[in-house]
Amino acid sequence: MVQPDRIHTHISSSRINLPVGTRSVTVIGAGIAGAWQALLLARAGFDVTVHERDSDAMAQAASHWAGGMLAPYCEAEASEPLITRLGERSLTLWREHLPDETRCEGSLVVAHARDRADYERFARMAPEHTRLDAAGIEAVEPSLDGRFREALFFPDEGHVEPRKVLPALHAGIRAAGGRIAFESEQAADQADGIVIDCRGLAARDALPDLRGVKGEEIIVETDEITLARPVRLMHPRWPLYVIPRDGNRFMIGATSIEREDDGVTVRSALELLSAAYAVHPAFAEARIVEIGSGLRPAFPDNMPRITIEGSRIAVNGLYRHGFLLAPALAELTLNYLTRGALDNEVMRCA
Ligand SMILES: Cc1cc2nc3c(=O)[nH]c(=O)nc-3n(C[C@H](O)[C@H](O)[C@H](O)COP(=O)(O)OP(=O)(O)OC[C@H]3O[C@@H](n4cnc5c(N)ncnc54)[C@H](O)[C@@H]3O)c2cc1C
Repeated sequence: MVQPDRIHTHISSSRINLPVGTRSVTVIGAGIAGAWQALLLARAGFDVTVHERDSDAMAQAASHWAGGMLAPYCEAEASEPLITRLGERSLTLWREHLPDETRCEGSLVVAHARDRADYERFARMAPEHTRLDAAGIEAVEPSLDGRFREALFFPDEGHVEPRKVLPALHAGIRAAGGRIAFESEQAADQADGIVIDCRGLAARDALPDLRGVKGEEIIVETDEITLARPVRLMHPRWPLYVIPRDGNRFMIGATSIEREDDGVTVRSALELLSAAYAVHPAFAEARIVEIGSGLRPAFPDNMPRITIEGSRIAVNGLYRHGFLLAPALAELTLNYLTRGALDNEVMRCA
């Protein structure tokens, strides 16, 4: 467990510069970042309006394409400690605010013999796991019986289904008294009161160092395999995984490519499908439901950032951790607006 470190937070003397009693908040963007900001602020009594330029299908949002893994410990293998710190807090907030949508079954990491060195390195870098032998794997995931000799089990991780939790979050915002306007494009500099800019990659006009990192995914359907939790397969280039979804579906993800087009290459499709086949050969008979990609909004250091400029707050750079980080980032904004608390690892005052 990452220990809370008081150094991260201090109370700002240059408190947000707003007329006393301003409670009106405009959130721009209803992806995972904006939805969580709106939810926590609406539940705290702010008068929240969300503008989303897309329809409620949200297919333009990076959030629509995500796996939805809540994996603060696995991500420690390739991320800064900040991601684990915020991710642990987010897991608590997911369970507290969306208990019906948050699956807390943990996650598994497996490897083939040829990737043994990478597997051991992963085990050293990613804390909070227990090692399972073949019998242990069978006990937690019977479908994987006989497939792998050992696995790393992260019991405290979780996952959500993005295309179910986005509507659930939107419903929660409305239930808390907030409003959401879909097909409503809003200019960030033309709203009154507190403005929270969660436009993802579209915020590049205000945040020029943002870039898009393409992630490709495939959804398949089969009733021959049952998984309770995400299974990661060690891979020399990407963290590939298979995530169970409702209706006998599985999301296979995800590549990470420094490009901003929206295509899926044959090579990526082959690698993703091979990963699923390596987890279980029965995936060979699965029906392909979807092949798609999204662009993760990222800053050069791949770290999230909350930028504060008077009454304008930009929440962005969630990179490959949007679902993992969005609740904790929303709580940081709430703490700032209600008591001037600044997290000096995440927040920048312009
Ligand atoms: C294949 C893939 C797999 C992933 N897997 C995971 C995972 O397992 N776990 C995890 O934590 N993260 C994962 N991610 C990362 C995650 O999806 C992103 O970090 C996250 O979606 C970013 O959220 P966002 O709200 O910042 O941006 P978006 O989801 O892009 O939302 C921004 C929204 O703003 C709207 N908008 C833009 N401009 C305007 C405007 N002017 N007016 C109104 N609305 C506007 C857009 O239409 C959009 O809906 C994955 C990403 C991909 C692509």
